[in-house]
Amino acid sequence: MIVRVFKSYVIPIALLLLCFPLACSQISPVNNDQYHELEGESMLDKVMKTDEEWREVLTPQQYEITRKKGTEPPFSGKYYDFKANGLYKCVCCSNDLFDSDTKFDSGTGWPSFWAPMSEQSVETSVDTSHGMVRVEVMCLRCGAHLGHMFDDGPQPTGLRYCINSVALDFVAN
Ligand SMILES: [Zn+2]
Repeated sequence: MIVRVFKSYVIPIALLLLCFPLACSQISPVNNDQYHELEGESMLDKVMKTDEEWREVLTPQQYEITRKKGTEPPFSGKYYDFKANGLYKCVCCSNDLFDSDTKFDSGTGWPSFWAPMSEQSVETSVDTSHGMVRVEVMCLRCGAHLGHMFDDGPQPTGLRYCINSVALDFVAN
């Protein structure tokens, strides 16, 4: 009986003690990664403006969508049915966001892409507003709200970046 009780406590505790140093040893590389990521981001030359400054340089609709996380009505934007070859830049800071090669017709009424242009283009975060759990897509350079990302896109990524036309500025190749 004593042996059984001893075993039932000791084994989990021993496992915990074994795992603890392992868990700690993982902290250091994670921190290093974050450090390198921060270095990479600073090389991107981030654009920081106050709310007032954004309001001055953007139209009211651009401001509402990119800085206040608004959404343009579907089938209303200038790029949802737009098929020219070129680059889509951030309307706020001109960061290169999407290539027309990755644009596809999603039928949703918003311009849709299956991948951003590079690792310097966008960042994502979980958005729980409006009673939904969605992945928000933002410009990596200036933090502009661009739209949302879903996992029902075409191959090769299977992703759908659903982006507001208002947040984009097209430049032909
Ligand atoms: Zn931007």
